[in-house]
Amino acid sequence: MRAKTKMIHSGITGEKQTGAVSVPIYQVSTYKQDSAGNHRGYEYSRTGNPTRHALETVIAELENGKAGAAFGSGMAAITSVMMLFDSEDHIIMTDDVYGGSYRLITKVLNRLKLEHTFTDTSSPASVETAINEHTKAIYVETPTNPLLKITDIQKMSEIAKKHGLLLIVDNTFATPYWQRPLELGADIVLHSATKYIGGHSDVVAGLVVVNTEELAQEIYFIQNAVGAVLGPQDSWLLMRGIKTLALRMEAIEANTRKIVSFLESHEKVPTIYYPGLESHPGHEVASKQAAGFGGMVSFDVGSGKAAEKVLAAVNYFTLAESLGAVESLISLPAKMTHASIPAARRKELGITDGLIRISIGIEDAEDLIEDLEAALA
Ligand SMILES: *Cc1c(COP(=O)(O)O)cnc(C)c1O
Repeated sequence: MRAKTKMIHSGITGEKQTGAVSVPIYQVSTYKQDSAGNHRGYEYSRTGNPTRHALETVIAELENGKAGAAFGSGMAAITSVMMLFDSEDHIIMTDDVYGGSYRLITKVLNRLKLEHTFTDTSSPASVETAINEHTKAIYVETPTNPLLKITDIQKMSEIAKKHGLLLIVDNTFATPYWQRPLELGADIVLHSATKYIGGHSDVVAGLVVVNTEELAQEIYFIQNAVGAVLGPQDSWLLMRGIKTLALRMEAIEANTRKIVSFLESHEKVPTIYYPGLESHPGHEVASKQAAGFGGMVSFDVGSGKAAEKVLAAVNYFTLAESLGAVESLISLPAKMTHASIPAARRKELGITDGLIRISIGIEDAEDLIEDLEAALA
């Protein structure tokens, strides 16, 4: 099955009894047992729910993995994956990971003595250097947020295998339509499905896909034990989103190329971060491991003041956190998504006050360009 067909026909589709084409929303918490302990596959909806199960099946197929698990948010998915580890285990993480992941590791999981090192995972040498005798995993986000740095997933997988580590990839920005980390050697892939997979700014959700039966058992055990599950309504919304994922990603890709070429020629935009540009340091790796570059672009307009002017002047770009939706969004990382990262660390990472991040939607590119043109003027 080719990618576009997969979005429509993979996983569990419809319902046998009535012929309903869409998977029903099983709004139910418990299930009648035929005799004590003898159930028909479902006993309690934290443990398993048919609508959630249908979503978990489709995401596993899209990522080409063994099994999928759905959670109440991207952070719930990430936290549940972290529960695979014990205190004093050590994890190596991409240095400019999503702000919420940074907060989870440095302010919550540190209390349970889960050790970590943040490093530039776009450099395999710095990852090798960070490995110690307690290291259990490499956790990579690629492309990153907001500087769109690229990590070579296959290289990371070679390092992980050599040292007996798990490779975990946050694939939120690329989506399984463009990039499938498990095929490149990762063990676990996860998503904030709130973003492109949902795609319509109407659901908060997280997904995990693993590549072995053993990891599947472990993640289902944790999902049931911790209980951070996704509800049936939201599971259904994600399945609905997935049906147009291919179309949306193609439309977003086309719009993004046009907007980047406009920004490139603009005198007030000295710096653009977009892996589709040949000048981007991760361009070669991105071209090799992903079929598209995505719809996230960051650009620097020189100062926080200038950036705020642009934000105030745009009409079609909604000033909001989040990304990956049908509508274009604009944000100022230093004051919004990355405000929880200390200023000194932001500076180290290159997240300047004048850095604007846009998430390009599926509107007409001409309107989006005119909007940016007027705001920059
Ligand atoms: C949004 C996001 C998360 C967190 O997901 P939520 O659904 O907001 O909990 C994790 N990783 C990345 C890359 C994200 O963009």
